[in-house]
Amino acid sequence: MKASRNRPRADVKNGQRRALTLDVPFPAAVLGLRTGADEMAMAEAAHLSATRPRRVTELVAAAYRTIGGQPATRQLVRSLNAAAREWLLYKAAFAFNPALDWFEAPCTHCGKPFDLRLSLIDAPRKGAGEGFPVAQVETSLGLRAFEALNGFHEEAAARAPAGKDLRRVFTGLCGLHPESLREAELFDNDDLAAIEQALEAMAPDLADVAEIACPNCQAMTGARIEPLRHVFPTPQSILREIHLIAFSYHWREAEILPLPPDRRRAYVAMIEADRARATGRR
Ligand SMILES: [Zn+2]
Repeated sequence: MKASRNRPRADVKNGQRRALTLDVPFPAAVLGLRTGADEMAMAEAAHLSATRPRRVTELVAAAYRTIGGQPATRQLVRSLNAAAREWLLYKAAFAFNPALDWFEAPCTHCGKPFDLRLSLIDAPRKGAGEGFPVAQVETSLGLRAFEALNGFHEEAAARAPAGKDLRRVFTGLCGLHPESLREAELFDNDDLAAIEQALEAMAPDLADVAEIACPNCQAMTGARIEPLRHVFPTPQSILREIHLIAFSYHWREAEILPLPPDRRRAYVAMIEADRARATGRR
């Protein structure tokens, strides 16, 4: 059972579906964070009541103007490989709050949270292997093609029923064979291992897990930071600032939201300073 990634695509029997994963490993992207409205869109995406892959799609689509020279639509964000989606999330988080480099993560052994210092943009990246975004694998059912894991797959897998073997779920979703969902249940363990290995060798990667000794139990634990939880404000905190300004200056929400976040916060600081002085005088 060996992965044969270098064969031309024509080797695969025809009738297979076309790969949806964008064929650029880490596309250049232009951030669009300028106004309070942009910030509100990101806050809502980060704190949406939805699966994590869905929130990543919403946040990256909200944070960027263009990705790979195209408008940053949800569909485009879904077509990105998993590492590129995570990388764009990290970059957006860093642009949003460059000073933030302390995070809290739970130890995978003892479960106690600990603080770690990590830079959001220093996570090492591995480029794509040959054939990206498609890997071809010799399986017990014949030569089969699989595309690199993308946002469509991540969102669909997050909806899979609990207890379902995720390796088979992803194999079925990434498979380009028209019967890939059915075949995913038929592959043996060697097939699944070969497919996983071929996909890992071909897909780009982002090293987003840091190996760190837990200060509590001293075990080595893989710490992963979650920018969705730690970096972006909640919609409520932005609404509170809008409320303060609207209340003090009698501006409308439609006038306050377009302000750059820094300026909005500067007004809030002045209003709060005035209030503190007024309370002190009483
Ligand atoms: Zn521990």
